[in-house]
Amino acid sequence: MKHRLFFLTGILFAVTSKTLAQQFAPSVALYIKVNTPTVAITNVTLIDGTGNPAKQHQTVVFSNGKITQAGDSKTVTAPAGAQVIDGTGKTLIPGLVMLHEHMYYTVPAGNLFNVAEMPFSFPRLYLAGGATTIRTAGSIEPQTDLAIKRFIAEGKMLGPDMDVTAPYIEEQGYDIPSINIVKGPADAAATANFWADRGCTSFKMYVHATRADMAAVVREAHKRHMKVTGHIGAVTYREAAEIGMDDLEHGFMACSDFDSVKVADQINDNEERQSLLKLDVNSPKMTELIKFMIGKHMALTSTLTVFEPNTGREMVPGGGEAALLPEAKEIVQRRWEAAQNRDQASASLFKKELAWEKQYYDLGGLLVAGTDPTGAGRVVSGYSNHREIELLTEAGFTPEQAIKICTLNGAVYLGRQADIGTIAVGKKADLVLMNGDLSQDIKNIRNTELVFKNGVGFDSQKIFDSVKGHVGMN
Ligand SMILES: [Zn+2]
Repeated sequence: MKHRLFFLTGILFAVTSKTLAQQFAPSVALYIKVNTPTVAITNVTLIDGTGNPAKQHQTVVFSNGKITQAGDSKTVTAPAGAQVIDGTGKTLIPGLVMLHEHMYYTVPAGNLFNVAEMPFSFPRLYLAGGATTIRTAGSIEPQTDLAIKRFIAEGKMLGPDMDVTAPYIEEQGYDIPSINIVKGPADAAATANFWADRGCTSFKMYVHATRADMAAVVREAHKRHMKVTGHIGAVTYREAAEIGMDDLEHGFMACSDFDSVKVADQINDNEERQSLLKLDVNSPKMTELIKFMIGKHMALTSTLTVFEPNTGREMVPGGGEAALLPEAKEIVQRRWEAAQNRDQASASLFKKELAWEKQYYDLGGLLVAGTDPTGAGRVVSGYSNHREIELLTEAGFTPEQAIKICTLNGAVYLGRQADIGTIAVGKKADLVLMNGDLSQDIKNIRNTELVFKNGVGFDSQKIFDSVKGHVGMN
């Protein structure tokens, strides 16, 4: 009896706490524009995340953070007491689910490549850019990332829901001060377990990790029903698929499978790059590899943003120049100017990468997307989320497919598709509302007005404005 009573109170508590409004700190509340129990967005153009063509004149209703109705405006009407938002001339898409995000930005350490945590600007920028769920893909300050995740969940910080990835699992190789180094498979397994015990929920192998390291981490992660991805090199894509990796990063840009002088468990960056430059875009060898990976149910993460050539393109693609600290902007600008008309090889490889990602998708592979805000500093969170969607259409995807890759596919990878990823009754009201018809012009993604997370609408532009000049500092 005593037990039953306890059990009942537990259920009651769960029910009441679910219907209570979310609590937000004043610093977060400042950016909230819509926070009423029931909201109806009427007569809007809807891209629902499934890849199906956009539909005109749709109405979406959500209540207490869940979508309750979605359909033609003639049949779905706003319930009494709902706050009505006129969606005429606007587009509604699901909140983005982006899988290669970081909480850090490129900050050189003398002549060494290095990155530094951006705990103020980056979580905000992701939300402003429409990302309501992200997976970090490698961390440099896991304790900070875990704290950010908790602060966001507690309403003390603006940002997306987070799947926090443990520190990089890498063998000694590149001289990057902030990267985590392990010594062999036992150490790799211990590292994975140490961070999983502290709240990290996914793992990332890095360039010099060996097959044995990878197998050890995959074994430990899968015991916990967690996933492992990798920006790999010493291990080929085929070997990684055989080992049971769940995902690989950067499309085929880190693929060493076609390096004819490849030594097992070793990376030769130059040979890898040359082999990809030489490989025909329609090579049957690539088709065979793609089919092998798909057969192993491996996901592939597109991070086109970090490979975008310089020549004739924006300095900070997506329009994020204003977010940069003036000193950081100077460095980015110098590099970008120096690269003008000198990056033909990168441009030709980028073109192939666009095609290979399309082939992966068309052959039935799970193509997911992220933005990787590192590189030479041209990838700035939030703005980059917009840019990734634009670049996917440059690869030949329709706007609807590009949105699917950045919403439903990410949700499927995270195993959260019952909850997020499409606009459907019963799912979380994670939504992005923008001005203009996205199916007609992909650049309308930059006209994002409101980002709903769990039914609460945040003012995108106001958040973008709040971090101007911060990226590169905090
Ligand atoms: Zn990365």
